[in-house]
Amino acid sequence: MGKRDYYEILGLQRDASKDEIKKAYRKMAIKYHPDKNPGDKKSEDHFKEAAEAYEVLSDDNKRARYDQFGHAGMNGGGGGGFSGRGMTVEDIFSQFGDIFGGHFGGFGGFGGGRSSQRVNKGSDLRVKVKLNLSEVANGVEKKIKVNKYVSCNTCHGTGAAGGSSYSTCTSCRGSGYVTRIANTMLGQMQTTSPCPTCSGEGKIITNKCTSCSGEGVVRDDEVISIKIPAGVAEGMQMSVSGRGNAARRGGVNGDLLVMIEEEKNPDLIRDGNDLIYNLYLSFPEATLGAPIEIPTVDGKVKIKIDPGTQPGKVLRLKGKGIPDVNGYGKGDLLVTINVWVPRTLTKEEKATIEKFAKSENFEPNPESGERNFFEKMRGFFE
Ligand SMILES: [Zn+2]
Ligand SMILES: [Zn+2]
Repeated sequence: MGKRDYYEILGLQRDASKDEIKKAYRKMAIKYHPDKNPGDKKSEDHFKEAAEAYEVLSDDNKRARYDQFGHAGMNGGGGGGFSGRGMTVEDIFSQFGDIFGGHFGGFGGFGGGRSSQRVNKGSDLRVKVKLNLSEVANGVEKKIKVNKYVSCNTCHGTGAAGGSSYSTCTSCRGSGYVTRIANTMLGQMQTTSPCPTCSGEGKIITNKCTSCSGEGVVRDDEVISIKIPAGVAEGMQMSVSGRGNAARRGGVNGDLLVMIEEEKNPDLIRDGNDLIYNLYLSFPEATLGAPIEIPTVDGKVKIKIDPGTQPGKVLRLKGKGIPDVNGYGKGDLLVTINVWVPRTLTKEEKATIEKFAKSENFEPNPESGERNFFEKMRGFFE
C-alpha cells in the first residue's frame, strides 16, 4: 500500500491548526493543479493525494479518527473509510470548491463540459455500540438495527410517479447550475452555483410518487452488520461509508458513524492496551507461595506465586492485554499483589500468630523485600 502520512503530504506538524491545514492544502492544490500541469500524471496524483489528506484533516471527526487509528483504522468499518483515492479531479472540486471561493465546475474547461448536476448527499447516521472486554480484545461483528431513510421502492428513489413525469427546469435549462464570471485568487474564472429553482437537480417533478411524496426516500428499519477491529476504546468512532441515510431523489448515501462504548469489566481494569488485575492473596499464600487462578480476557489462567511475595509487587503477563488497534502488538496484563490481613481470629489462631511475633523473620524489613508499586512509580508523580 505505502500510503503516505496525511500530515507529511501537506507538510504539516501534527498539531497544525485548521487554518494552517487549509493554507497548506491551497498551496498544494495550486501547485499541482491539472490546468497548470496538463497531461502530467504525477502532478495529478499529488493533487489527488493532497485532496485526500485535506478531506480527512479538515474534518474534526475524521482527523481525530486518523490520529487515533492511522490509515489502518480508516477502513475498519467493513468496507467503510475514505473515498479520496477513487475521486476524480471533478469530484475534488465539487467537494472542496469552497476553499477557492467558488465552484470550479467550469474552470478552464476541464471536466470536458460535463453538465454535472449537484449530487444530493444523505445525512450521516450515528449509532452507539456497547462492547464487553472480550469483544474489545478479539474484535467482533455486530448486527444493529437502525431506523433510517432508505430509497423508496415504488419510484426507485426518483420521487416521480410513472416513467416520465419530469419537466426540464427552465431557469437553468436542465444544467442544474447558474454560471457567472468571478475574480478569485487564481485569476478570473467562471464560477457556477446550484440552480435555486430546481435545487441543482436540473429537472422538476410534475407527478410526484405517492409513497414518498416525491422525496425518493422513506423511513424503514435496516439491520447493518459492522465489523469492529480488536483494540478499539471508549469514545472511538468508525465510519461505514454509504450506510447512513439515503439521499433525496437518488443521491449519495450518508455514512454510518459508529461510536464505541465499553462495558466495565468487574475484574479487569483497562489502562490503554494494558489490563490491571488486583489480586488478593491470603497471608499463607503470600508467605508460602501458591498456584493461583486469575481472570484474563480469554478465561482463567493459573499463575505461580513465589514464596515471600510482597504486597505491591506487580506481575507482568506479557501479551495478555488488549491488541493495539493499529496492529502494533499487544498490551500486558499487570497483576498487582495485595495481601489480605485477617480481621477476626479464633483464640487458637491468635495464639499461633503471637508465637511468630517474636521471630525476626516477622520483623518488617522493606529493604529486603520488593519495592512496592508506588515507590516504583514515584518518579512519574514528581
Ligand atoms: Zn417514491
Ligand atoms: Zn434549475
